[in-house]
Amino acid sequence: MPAFSRRKFLKISGAAAGAFAGGASAIATKSVLAGKEIPSGSGIQTIPTFCDICFWKCGAIAYVKDGELWKVEGNPLDPLSRGRLCPRGTGGIGAHFDPDRLRAPLMRRRKRGDEEWTVVTWDEALNSVAEKMQKIKAEYGPEALALFSHGIGGTFLRHALKAYGAINIAAPSFAQCRGPRDVGFKLTFGEDVSSPERTDIRNADCLVLIGSHLGENMHNTQVQEFAEAVGRGASIIVADPRFSVAAGKAKFYLPIRPGTDLALLLAWMQVLVAENLYDKEYVAKYGFGFEQFAASVAACTPEWAYPETGIEPELIRSTAREMARCKPATLVHPGRHVTWYGDDAQRSRAIALLNALLGSWGRKGGFYYPVSMDVPGYAYPEYPKAQKDKVDNPGGKYPFADESITTGIREATLTGKPYPIKGWFVYATNLMEALPSAKETIQAMQNLDLMVVVDVIPSEIAGWADVVLPESVYLERYDDLNVEWFREPFVALRQPVVLSPHDQKPNWWIARTLANKLGLGNYFPWKDIEEYLKHRLSAAGLSLDELKKKGIIRGARQPVYFDEGVPDRFPTPSGKIEFYSLQLEKAGMAPVPQYKRPADGPPGYLRLLYGRAPVHSFSRTQSNPILSDAMSENAVWVHPETAGRHGIQNGVRVRLKNQDGILSNPVPARITERIRPDCAYLVHGFGHTAKGLKHAFGIGASDARLITRYATDPLMGGTGMNVNFVTFEIEEV
Ligand code: SF4
Repeated sequence: MPAFSRRKFLKISGAAAGAFAGGASAIATKSVLAGKEIPSGSGIQTIPTFCDICFWKCGAIAYVKDGELWKVEGNPLDPLSRGRLCPRGTGGIGAHFDPDRLRAPLMRRRKRGDEEWTVVTWDEALNSVAEKMQKIKAEYGPEALALFSHGIGGTFLRHALKAYGAINIAAPSFAQCRGPRDVGFKLTFGEDVSSPERTDIRNADCLVLIGSHLGENMHNTQVQEFAEAVGRGASIIVADPRFSVAAGKAKFYLPIRPGTDLALLLAWMQVLVAENLYDKEYVAKYGFGFEQFAASVAACTPEWAYPETGIEPELIRSTAREMARCKPATLVHPGRHVTWYGDDAQRSRAIALLNALLGSWGRKGGFYYPVSMDVPGYAYPEYPKAQKDKVDNPGGKYPFADESITTGIREATLTGKPYPIKGWFVYATNLMEALPSAKETIQAMQNLDLMVVVDVIPSEIAGWADVVLPESVYLERYDDLNVEWFREPFVALRQPVVLSPHDQKPNWWIARTLANKLGLGNYFPWKDIEEYLKHRLSAAGLSLDELKKKGIIRGARQPVYFDEGVPDRFPTPSGKIEFYSLQLEKAGMAPVPQYKRPADGPPGYLRLLYGRAPVHSFSRTQSNPILSDAMSENAVWVHPETAGRHGIQNGVRVRLKNQDGILSNPVPARITERIRPDCAYLVHGFGHTAKGLKHAFGIGASDARLITRYATDPLMGGTGMNVNFVTFEIEEV
């Protein structure tokens, strides 16, 4: 148990700070302001920055007390946090004090995956990496080096590798998360939903959540706006196999059979069209192919949908009427992690079409048009011209993939086709937990000549590296500016609050030093990050000194809705909202989404669902002493009927066994009527197997390890992961 507890932390007292420092006595926590060390005993300093515990980038104020990191709160100037961090952001200082964090560069001593390391200097580590990169370039070309990267922190590494000639660069946020949604919306409106999502929750009169767990999935701004919407009396409609926290606030809860959401969406649209409840003026003005669309959904009545979804026809009708009553301020939320069943881009397109029928795109209470400040990028030399195409989508197999597909790069690494991938750089993404089928990831890594991981903790993927490079946590480093696309324009600064306690380095330093060793110093003409930031800011007429003091500079408000003057143009082939998609038709795909019943699991098995908890981010935070104190282990949710059939009592520890015989760690059973009898549910991110994560090792069950199968989305290559099934082995009675 960590010496510092969340409860003590939340008291935010001097005594608590003492306990924290005591728990991490080996760690120096001297603060830095403007690059200069502040002597201890100088009282309280407040230093603005932005959070990195997830990728939402909330503006924060870090407090340093007598030279020690004390607490972090929301920055009131920041439009994302609005002065309040979420629970895991509040526990962000635990990342600095994490007893398991990487401390120095490591090189593999034995075979890959054994996690036996030699501590080396940065020079030794980066010389070795640069030498192997040059060898790969000479033998296979620079395209044979791939980068997997997630988050703003990867900016400079991405730049260094592009300068080297790498083109195969992907983030799991596309093919394992939001990609199908963005593709489905782009096919319909010509624009995607972006992140932070352009959802005007705070002005919505009706909010429809389809498997979106706002409140458990803790994206701060959305959750604050959700709370406001509930407080205002907005109608909340939730369709979910699990009675989520959001369902607890709903006026209508639809306990839908998993995998049948598209049938429900089609039935809702059928009702709106058949009962003439859609926004006729909006559809007539902006719609393309409405007649064909209407004909396509005509047979999808609530009675048709009932045996698929398990939702009574009258409930489908009454919820459709409720949406129509509140239009256009009805927001059918597009979701975020939407890689479920392999039909995800078409399901997301159906969500886009439902919003189009309600006239919510470009309207208050629906989807606004995000704006940003004009802060030019740094003018670098051009990157080398690639001699090959990217490997992840050979022959345009997934015709609507407009970002690189992680699992496509993995496939090319496995097969050597269309050409071999011989090196992986992995930045801040634990591929063993993020990608389905860990077996394929491990097999692919066997074909590499170089495997480098840059991270703050010794994650599972770091265990497979040849070289591990320890990064400073966000409270210890500068990153690139956050020039956000949001409801109002602003620019935010991440700056160091305290020194890194060991031999960790900021990513800009790692990227720049590596580039110099590769003879690519001309791509990093600035001498340090402050010079880089000043250069960018001065081009926008802004000052680094002001940003250091405030953390955020806001721009003037701009129009974000059609009726405020946003041009009502849709960058689709027809220039309109595409109810019928000729693009899809040409690609041999359904121009209007078509429902297909999902495959059942083996008899007696339950569908495995997974989600988030408000105090953890992916698999990145289980060793954070504050956040693990708040939630140290996950539990499996099981319906009482199912539990009865399996002889499971509440709290009994069970292992989950999937359809391929993979067995999880034991976890307590949480027997609850808040889940359908045909499903089991786990919070994602637990069940660590990395030896270095001593404080999280072996605790909880890993949903990722149980996800041995996936269904690939034919439109864009996303990996639907809700296609695994589990049964139980009782550990103790
Ligand atoms: S949502 Fe929470 S964890 Fe994510 S950036 Fe904001 S405060 Fe940090």
